Amino acid sequence: MTRPFVFAGLSTRVVFGHGTLKSVPDEVARLGHHRALVLSTPHQEDQAQALAEALGSAAAGVFSDAAMHTPVDVTGRAVAAYRDLGADCVVSLGGGSTTGLGKAIATRTGADQLVVPTTYAGSEMTDILGETADGEKVTRRDASIRPEVVVYDVDLTLGLPVGLTMTSALNAIAHAMEGLYAPDRNPVTEALSRDALKAFAAALPVLRDDPANPEARSQALYAAWGCSTALGYVQMALHHKLAHVLGGSFGLPHAETHAILLPHTTAYNEVAVAGLLAPIRDTFGHASAGAGLWHFARDIGAPLRLSELGLSEADLDRATEIAVKNPYENPREITRAGIRQLLQDAWEGSEPA
Ligand code: NAD
Repeated sequence: MTRPFVFAGLSTRVVFGHGTLKSVPDEVARLGHHRALVLSTPHQEDQAQALAEALGSAAAGVFSDAAMHTPVDVTGRAVAAYRDLGADCVVSLGGGSTTGLGKAIATRTGADQLVVPTTYAGSEMTDILGETADGEKVTRRDASIRPEVVVYDVDLTLGLPVGLTMTSALNAIAHAMEGLYAPDRNPVTEALSRDALKAFAAALPVLRDDPANPEARSQALYAAWGCSTALGYVQMALHHKLAHVLGGSFGLPHAETHAILLPHTTAYNEVAVAGLLAPIRDTFGHASAGAGLWHFARDIGAPLRLSELGLSEADLDRATEIAVKNPYENPREITRAGIRQLLQDAWEGSEPA
């Protein structure tokens, strides 16, 4: 019998293909806007400047100080630039950090957002914004946060470094994994998640050896769209909670942390919802979903140990305390001993039992 569900419908317009960057001026015009503030990190400033040039008089300027975890002081400067330049929308070109800045500007000004994602992290389809102030990251969801248009241009991902390719893809797979057991999942997010898992499983081993392979890049970006969409329409649980704790309270890098935690959070919840995680087991081909993801991550050269990221073994007790402090919904009961063991395994990088 089909499980009862509520599906609110997908609201973001998506343009996907090779060379789609050239459609950005038309898409801005289609939104009815004439002065876009183009956003990027310092690393991608040249690309942002080139896009502003392509927009011509429809560009208000470039703000290229986007940073990881959306620090509110950077947002304050960006909002000031948005207002001073008389901008009427934002175009965010980059990974999740740049998308986050666009979302932060949008919630403060009502700006429409057009996002051009260049990693697989998957912020572009979601109504989620995490912002950092005084060393603390606070995440919220609101319909006003979700971008209006996403332009996926495969060509912009051809040069994505192999390391970030693998870790941001595993970050995306984590969205699909938690989407499979989310209490508010629906057939659309389930189908997209299953399809995305298969596409990533096929594409990432190819990209390890041939990073500019256009077919595999296309498959991977398609998969990222599916995972981002799943994240954007259902609630997340243990995996995202632990990644948030390690990123927010210990300063660990986002994509790597997700990548390392994924096999272990999957294995933890698989005890309770093995059937719902069967698509992962079937796709990655091991006795369990957790083991399958661990072997896959190792095969594609992703980091496996939290200890590699500078977390000390002594930090694991404090991370456990923070992670179990406030109760939240998860398919398997959250116990202090269980989380402490999970973190130990992730710290050592051992194959999940
Ligand atoms: P990132 O955006 O921080 O990018 C990392 C670096 O790679 C940056 O210097 C960036 O300019 C560079 N880069 C991006 N694309 C590139 C490319 N194609 N070629 C070369 N360099 C490139 O990293 P990320 O992993 O994409 O995003 C992480 C951030 O996204 C975190 O702050 C996380 O919280 C957020 N996030 C939010 C959501 C959400 O729904 N709110 C979802 C996923 C991630």
